[in-house]
Amino acid sequence: MPKINVLPKNVAELIAAGEVVERPASVIKELIENSIDAGADTITVEIQNGGISYMRITDNGCGISGEDVPLAFLRHATSKIKEDNDLNYISTLGFRGEALAAVSSVSRVELLTCSENEEIGTHYVIEGGQEALYEEAGCPKGTTIIIRDLFYNTPARMKFLKKDVSEANACAAVVDRIALSHPEISIKFIRDGKQTLNTSGDGQIKTAVYSVLGREFANSLIECEGEFGGITVSGLICKPVSCKPTRNNQFTFLNGRLVRSGTIITAVEQAYKNSAMIGKFPVFVLYVSVPFDTVDVNVHPAKTEVRFSDEKRIFDSVYASVKNALSKGDTRPEIKITQPAFNRFERMTTEQFKQTVIKTEPLKEITKPEQVKIVTEPVIKKEPKSFAFEAPKNTTFADTYSFVGNDGKKTEPVYAPKAQSKDVLIEKELDEIIDEDKPVITIIGQAFNTYIIAQMDDSIFMIDKHAAHERILFNKLKSQHKIEVQALLTPITANLQKDEYNAIINNLDLLLSAGFEIDDFGASTVAVRAIPTTLVGEDIVSLLSEMAESILTTKSVQIEREENLFHTVACKAAIKAGSHTSVAEMKDLAEKVLLSKDIMYCPHGRPVAYEIKKRELEKQFGRIQ
Ligand code: ADP
Ligand code: MG
Repeated sequence: MPKINVLPKNVAELIAAGEVVERPASVIKELIENSIDAGADTITVEIQNGGISYMRITDNGCGISGEDVPLAFLRHATSKIKEDNDLNYISTLGFRGEALAAVSSVSRVELLTCSENEEIGTHYVIEGGQEALYEEAGCPKGTTIIIRDLFYNTPARMKFLKKDVSEANACAAVVDRIALSHPEISIKFIRDGKQTLNTSGDGQIKTAVYSVLGREFANSLIECEGEFGGITVSGLICKPVSCKPTRNNQFTFLNGRLVRSGTIITAVEQAYKNSAMIGKFPVFVLYVSVPFDTVDVNVHPAKTEVRFSDEKRIFDSVYASVKNALSKGDTRPEIKITQPAFNRFERMTTEQFKQTVIKTEPLKEITKPEQVKIVTEPVIKKEPKSFAFEAPKNTTFADTYSFVGNDGKKTEPVYAPKAQSKDVLIEKELDEIIDEDKPVITIIGQAFNTYIIAQMDDSIFMIDKHAAHERILFNKLKSQHKIEVQALLTPITANLQKDEYNAIINNLDLLLSAGFEIDDFGASTVAVRAIPTTLVGEDIVSLLSEMAESILTTKSVQIEREENLFHTVACKAAIKAGSHTSVAEMKDLAEKVLLSKDIMYCPHGRPVAYEIKKRELEKQFGRIQ
């Protein structure tokens, strides 16, 4: 066994430095955090060659008094905590007293600082952990720290550095994140002589996001605000349609510190579940504040990971805030016609225009006028308001409408929600019918037997009928109490594969909640006694296999299993794209979609409807500028 050595101080220092100083970006992070802790409201960061040869951080913070300067570079030397109990109430970004010691042991550091109550400042140079200069110097209040030749004395670490460009990008990413976390601080970043970021420091999250992530991005975000038992959540989140294929644009700041918290990310992503497409991730900038004693930031030397004393409370607060913001702030995606409006008269002289008219062939006569079909939609008349009060209790939604076709004759509605057995529900539906503030929805028609085109207020909506119906059914299944069940006169028996059969009989309760009453017949056979009304006429045996499949592929938590099963059922029961849909059916769907904020996306996250604003059309046709 080799002999045990206690490592000399400089070797121990280098080992410790490895934890804090991994690359230029980690130095930048520590140094900016020091400036923030010093109360600076203006910070300038400059790097050259990816930060490897040169990094400078200048701040207007409190500065370090002359006598404290050498101490600042000692390990475990900090002005931020004094005793162990202080670790429970950490409100500063730094507290480990390690950064300056670590950085100075692997580079050449030059410091110029002047504290608030000193007339003259200090100039200090330390290289590879050895003091090289310590003198008085005139300088403005605040601190400038320059790091040169990072890892000059640790070639092994030097080898791990990437190309200058990658290191510079990593530095820029750190500065971006810090700028986002402190909108009240003006942060400037200069990269190889070029200024690439300058935040105003006006304290507005939106302005900071604007500077860092760009205008288009900032304008498409939804504000998020929430407060739950001492935990506050605020920030900006993206609309579900704008989710991205990576998690690169997720920023979480906990008590002003950039952190990576699985709990927070999961809470946000759960709130987007069933709204965002699978494989896409929400973009967000969230500021979470929790009481200092409920979070442990001392988990990792770079302090980016945290531990909460009550994970569930954090999860619930973030989830509720995001969900709430989504339900309030999400709007339907709008179709913008990008081609600029073309005004031919503006571009042609009268003479030129005459020329084009002469050259154009005369219009061919329409030889078969009977081929031109004019389709007008049936008018849907509303019964007088008083009707609702006189209506017998078992009146259905459909009974209160009469449909008048093109020929003026009354027609029976083809599609109508079935009478509800519960009186309460009927009353609720009647209430909806007599609501006179309800916007008028006109069905213009249907394109490709797939997209319903409807008009409401000053907009036209294109609704994907399958996606819409699927979402409506899914929500119904999820809300549990509204699903209508039809008992089958003759039960449907199905002989299933062994694993499918097991999946079904082990989840009879779950299937019951989706509207299926199923008995175990033994020998891999089940009997279906009742099914959701919407599935009457569907191939129940193949649906059973699909449901079993869905149960088998979701091994995780019950709630996910339930949702996946509901997806399968809703998808099957929803009207298919390409199939015939009556006007009444379209109207019913359009109403449900356009009057409810809950039906924005299909359960797979595809949008249910797109909006085209009247203004947009008018611009295109040159009616307005
Ligand atoms: P920590 O930040 O964990 O305290 P550091 O090694 O980063 O440890 O810094 C040591 C000390 O030096 C800090 O506690 C602080 O008192 C002082 N210091 C460092 N940078 C600055 C700065 N930019 N302005 C004022 N004081 C600073
Ligand atoms: Mg520090």
